[in-house]
Amino acid sequence: MRPFTSTISFEEARRRLEASATPIARTERMPIAAAAWRVAAEDVVSTIDVPPFSRSAMAGYAVIAADTAGAGAQSPVTLTIVEQLYTGRAPSRPITRGTCAEIATGAPLPDGADAVVMVEQTTRPASTAAGSHASAVTISAKAAAGQNIGRRGADIAAGATVARTGDQLNPGRLGAVAAIGRADITVYAKPRVAILSTGNEVVEPGRPLAPGQIYDVNRFTLTSIVEAHGGIADPRPPADDSLEALEAALDACAAADIIVFSGGSSVGERDLIVDLIARKGEMIFHGIAVKPGKPTGFAKVAGKPFFAMPGNPTSCLSNAYVLFVPFLRAVAHLPALVERTMTLPLGRRIESPAGRLQFYTVRIEHGKAMPAFKGSGEITSLSQADGYIRIPSDRSVVEEGDAVDVTLF
Ligand code: AMP
Ligand code: MG
Repeated sequence: MRPFTSTISFEEARRRLEASATPIARTERMPIAAAAWRVAAEDVVSTIDVPPFSRSAMAGYAVIAADTAGAGAQSPVTLTIVEQLYTGRAPSRPITRGTCAEIATGAPLPDGADAVVMVEQTTRPASTAAGSHASAVTISAKAAAGQNIGRRGADIAAGATVARTGDQLNPGRLGAVAAIGRADITVYAKPRVAILSTGNEVVEPGRPLAPGQIYDVNRFTLTSIVEAHGGIADPRPPADDSLEALEAALDACAAADIIVFSGGSSVGERDLIVDLIARKGEMIFHGIAVKPGKPTGFAKVAGKPFFAMPGNPTSCLSNAYVLFVPFLRAVAHLPALVERTMTLPLGRRIESPAGRLQFYTVRIEHGKAMPAFKGSGEITSLSQADGYIRIPSDRSVVEEGDAVDVTLF
């Protein structure tokens, strides 16, 4: 047995991870259609005005505002319609005093016009129905110059920045990039995360189990975490508990930006991760005063971050949520997650070990937080939970009925 040399607090583990999370510098250029939710690695500056021309914001009539001076319900003004303007076509003639053009929403404003009167404030004499040639329109409201017009460049002026380096391309930002006609954008590459389960007993799905074997869980929970938080998962087949096998598996991860092993991180004879790191890298911490997930380590291997996650599936996934996700998001240039929490009464008394911060999973049932944690090895501690509560290290009991803050998954 090689006991943990020194167990650190959860907060200290978070600090050390934060200090080691270097945002990725690699970038890639891609069509904007592929760039949703990616992080811009350039300031995107518009070379055009948006809209590129002044246009009508309403269906109605493009007029010279001065022609409608004094117009009202009792004193309507009649103007001659000289043209019908649709979207996607340039006006053929200017508007002069006493005339107007029927105009669709989004159609270019003709020269001379300086206001649009919405169709609801007009009537068409029966003899001059919409679309007929010689036509006129009666306007029953005074127009102010500029009304119902989207001015050229009013949305985005040429030279304006529509997305900045570090901005995540949410639908609104992607829309602004599309509005200026950009076809491609440079974004930060997604960190590649090698994921590997260790253990002679761990078997890939789809194969029969021999006596003593179990199916690999961690590879799949970790892969989904990576994909959900801005990384590209590179899941690998499980490795045996021998230094040679682990070393070969680690060497095969050379192309990864982050390496995540699970299992073998505790203090048993077969827990060889400590020896592996002694050979190949530098341990930054090993052992955290947290439950579940005490046997968690973090190292640098050839300058790369290396996570030694516990083999127990619940320990592994729990620490993936609370330690690995913030790290990955920082490397991926993604903003920190905003936790969604609910305050609920605890449905049953919980005991918690003194001296360790506990993340205790709960299920929400009838407005109460029901304990869902079975054990660190049981994945159903998580699969049947809606979230978790934090029980501080100086607290050993939480009573039934106590208000607890549930962080939702
Ligand atoms: P270890 O941390 O390697 O000592 O493993 C602790 C427990 O987790 C043992 O019962 C292992 O069999 C189990 N375990 C380790 N790795 C995995 C895995 N990838 N999937 C499911 N269970 C695992
Ligand atoms: Mg093992």
